[in-house]
Amino acid sequence: MKNQLPTVKLPEYNIKLSDGKPIKIRPFVAKEEKILLMAIESNSDNKQIYDSILSIIQSCILTKNIDVKKLSPIDIEIILLEIRKNSVGEVVETTFDSRKVFNCSQQVCSEQIEKKFNLNTVEIKNMENVSKVIKLDDKVSVKLKHKLLSSDEIGTNKVEALYNSITACIDVISNEDEIININDFTFKQLANWVEVSFNKNQMLEALEFVRNQPHLYAELVVKCPICSQEKKIELKGVMSFFTL
Ligand SMILES: [Zn+2]
Repeated sequence: MKNQLPTVKLPEYNIKLSDGKPIKIRPFVAKEEKILLMAIESNSDNKQIYDSILSIIQSCILTKNIDVKKLSPIDIEIILLEIRKNSVGEVVETTFDSRKVFNCSQQVCSEQIEKKFNLNTVEIKNMENVSKVIKLDDKVSVKLKHKLLSSDEIGTNKVEALYNSITACIDVISNEDEIININDFTFKQLANWVEVSFNKNQMLEALEFVRNQPHLYAELVVKCPICSQEKKIELKGVMSFFTL
């Protein structure tokens, strides 16, 4: 008899990222799922939680040379959804509290509404909004692309977080025909440059780009079985599919 516990081989899945690139992933192990669910429940911007989620996703990616921190946010969402599908199945059975969903007129309305939701109905919204060029004057322009913020870039307050979210999206800065290598500058230097280079309208344009990033989306209609009231529930972003 060996005094060693056996290593369990996890299943592997092939999925496609938003640009069609195939990658191989494995599902969460119980410990990882627990950390993730705890993170979602705590609903905080804690940097440690953020980093631990990213490192869990990284360990689930089996294809070599993929740095999770360099993936676009929509690709992270796609990977999480696929892992979810493979760990709980495509159909999620969930319940809604009718008192929270609608203010039913009848006292007898049931409190729990059971609903099945198929994760294959999830679609990607705003895929056309992958990148954007903003002209700052007749020579200088900046190309924005959605990126993940590193935990140091999140910012300590809402205003800072807003500016940082724009800075984090900077992909290319060009000055006439010259392309400036943004890697030569620190995040702080770029953030300062944004503050002194964008006017109010350009700022609003950039913010709209940041806010309308591609995301997972689905809707389901919940009906009260007693009074037949119906309501459409929108699910936005991958985390909403983990709390179902
Ligand atoms: Zn009702």
